[in-house]
Amino acid sequence: MIHMLFRNLGIVLSLLLLFCTILFANILKKDSLSTVMSSKNIEIAECASACALPSHVDLSADSFPVKRTQKQWRERLSALAYSVTREQGTERPFSNAYHDNKAIGIYNCVGCETPLFLSVDKFDSGTGWPSFSRPIDSRTLGEKRDVSYGMQRIEVHCKVCGAHQGHVFQDGPSDRGGLRYCINSASLLFEPLNDLDEVRAKVVAWYAPK
Ligand SMILES: [Zn+2]
Repeated sequence: MIHMLFRNLGIVLSLLLLFCTILFANILKKDSLSTVMSSKNIEIAECASACALPSHVDLSADSFPVKRTQKQWRERLSALAYSVTREQGTERPFSNAYHDNKAIGIYNCVGCETPLFLSVDKFDSGTGWPSFSRPIDSRTLGEKRDVSYGMQRIEVHCKVCGAHQGHVFQDGPSDRGGLRYCINSASLLFEPLNDLDEVRAKVVAWYAPK
């Protein structure tokens, strides 16, 4: 009788242990998933807010090959493009022209039409702004430290005409070099092309020594 009781108790305890193990594993799984999800949300929120803040870099003392008067810039650019490129402004996320553009082509500077970014380097960062893993050529995309709003950001601009483009952050895709160029659509003019051969030919022709 005592022997039977111990044997049944053993089975009950084993089942109880199994139940607790399954329950504990599920709690752990749920916690790690919610942690990953919330950290991802925070990351995107931080990225988005860092992009959303305008730049306070002063490029007025810098000299650029393409020079225009304030009046000429106003005539050439839309009000938004002027505000972003000449006054270091920023545009709204998601409602801008190129954040979701997946077409093949070249993103040229809106101020001087210098090719700055390629469609093959564009990725969806989830921030609502066009995001690139690299520029075409560092000779045409300048960087300047931006410490406004108590943040350490690197502002990027067209080195040919001084048009403010956006900022570069170090939280881009690791398999593409780890950088994220958060660029305003208003600073760009997209040139759609048929295929990558056409893209390559245009870029080589533009950057080849004249
Ligand atoms: Zn430019």
